[in-house]
Amino acid sequence: MNLMLSSTSTFKNICTRCGKERIVVKEWEEITESGAKMKKRETACPDPSCQEEVSKALLSKQKDRERKEMARLARIAKMNDRFNE
Ligand SMILES: [Zn+2]
Repeated sequence: MNLMLSSTSTFKNICTRCGKERIVVKEWEEITESGAKMKKRETACPDPSCQEEVSKALLSKQKDRERKEMARLARIAKMNDRFNE
């Protein structure tokens, strides 16, 4: 029973920055390729300035990951060059 309780509580979307419960700003249904309906929802922090910071942090994290991936690929390409010599 405890397991059930904890799984429902994690369903709540809490802002990672300020700890406020995030609000649903958009809700829509999408049809997947298999024809099934899927509920999608977009949430945001009720504090607009906090939400802005969260999006910014998310974006820079994404960019950082892309940069690391590019560096990794470049390293692999260099290594392959060395092997081919
Ligand atoms: Zn927040």
